[in-house]
Amino acid sequence: MNKLYYTPGPSALYYTAEEHLKRALKEQIPSISHRGAQFQEIYKLASDRLRSLLALPDNYQILFTASATEIWERSIQNCVAEQSVHLINGAFSQRFYEISKQLGKGAVAFEVPHGSSVDPAVVKVADPELIAVTHNETSTGVSQPLADITALRAQYPDTLITVDGVSSLPAVALDYSQIDAAYLSVQKCFGLPAGLGVWLVNERMLAKAEALAATGQSIGSYHSLPALISRAAKNQTPETPNVLGIYLLAAVAGDMLDKGIDMIRRETAYKAALLYHAFDTHPALSVFAKKESLRSQTVLVAEVEGGSAPLIEYLAAKGLVAGIGYGQYKASQLRIANFPTHSKEQFEYLTDLITSYKV
Ligand SMILES: *Cc1c(COP(=O)(O)O)cnc(C)c1O
Repeated sequence: MNKLYYTPGPSALYYTAEEHLKRALKEQIPSISHRGAQFQEIYKLASDRLRSLLALPDNYQILFTASATEIWERSIQNCVAEQSVHLINGAFSQRFYEISKQLGKGAVAFEVPHGSSVDPAVVKVADPELIAVTHNETSTGVSQPLADITALRAQYPDTLITVDGVSSLPAVALDYSQIDAAYLSVQKCFGLPAGLGVWLVNERMLAKAEALAATGQSIGSYHSLPALISRAAKNQTPETPNVLGIYLLAAVAGDMLDKGIDMIRRETAYKAALLYHAFDTHPALSVFAKKESLRSQTVLVAEVEGGSAPLIEYLAAKGLVAGIGYGQYKASQLRIANFPTHSKEQFEYLTDLITSYKV
């Protein structure tokens, strides 16, 4: 029996991914040259389709890396001389902060208890170079309200603002005029095999990297922003990239465009409402996000009275793979991905099972 993955990354493959993967093998995509015209066409298709899907403005470049974790490191190397600022409310936002410290920067943390998000009004720093916001904290199921990002921009117009949309793009409609960079990994909402990060950067990010390089600071080598951007202009990458991953991304982004981003977002909201209702009404479950306005639409996290293992086993017996809690919440919480590949019917089935679960 095929299992149904509701884990928050990797998750279920996008429902068309298998067909695209088979076609890729038939077309011998993994063997083509990454310097040839066929690859350039694939790159351009992926880039063009992502741009339409995300409604990304022209002043943004679309760059490919190995992962989102790599983008954390590259963001600091390319855009921070001394100090980055991090809004921390879970394990992923925390990790970005730690990478900045590991790279020798004076990273400043504004931290709140898990289950909540940092109020932008408490973020007080003199002339920060870069502020890191995690739109969707996958470890806790908390989403930073988009109005908070706008508030940060108003407060710090000259600061680079970089948004982790790894587990929410393309389900979230970011306002790219209020930020300077955003990024994602394809194994989350795009439902593809891991090993490809997508970095969206505007001209202010590039200008900062060039200014740092001009002072003699190292901004890295093959994946510095100038190196990535000059190759992207030729629909290429500096290294031999994940050609298969880029091919699959182009294909799935095309399917998502055919379905329509509005439909994807409406279905995401419907499925989230359904499951949150089940969490709210079940006597043994409670949503971890403290305030309703902070509840993630794409990663739903509940605390389970007495521990989540029996509920996860109950679902597994029906062929459903649910996510365990993250880190310290491993045994106490349930995490469910609500990604574009998860159909309304699959969510109705999951919700019915959870509703009828008896402790
Ligand atoms: C999964 C995840 C990452 C890391 O992605 P990798 O592809 O493992 O590097 C970063 N941020 C968030 C919010 C995530 O969910």
